[in-house]
Amino acid sequence: MEFKDDKCIIENCVNKQKFDKYCGKHKKYYNYQILSQQGINVCNIDRGCLNPILEGYTKCEKCLNVSRKKDESKLIKVSQLKSIVQEGKTICNKCKCEFDNFQNLLGMNSTKCRSCYEKQRLIEQNRVRVR
Ligand SMILES: [Zn+2]
Ligand SMILES: [Zn+2]
Ligand SMILES: [Zn+2]
Repeated sequence: MEFKDDKCIIENCVNKQKFDKYCGKHKKYYNYQILSQQGINVCNIDRGCLNPILEGYTKCEKCLNVSRKKDESKLIKVSQLKSIVQEGKTICNKCKCEFDNFQNLLGMNSTKCRSCYEKQRLIEQNRVRVR
């Protein structure tokens, strides 16, 4: 016989309780409960990272390293972008390809490559027709 209240307490979860009030899938919340009961701050429950955080930090060491690396690659991209723009080329903000600068119908430098620009224009034309 199955009791309704042996279901995991996470909203909409229909799995059975395995770890206290949580199912196997939501075991991280159980872990979190235990850690916070011990007064330990954990990294990011939403992303499932339950490493303890050192005092004065907002993330665990592992996640700090990950975001550091992301920042570094962002910086590299920006500097690449700048050097390309100086050569009269632009990175399409839609498909990220490189294209020679050209002016759109408004007489401004297009931020999209020709094929993306044409596609966008067709979509907008169709929209107008529908209305
Ligand atoms: Zn669950
Ligand atoms: Zn973390
Ligand atoms: Zn494009």
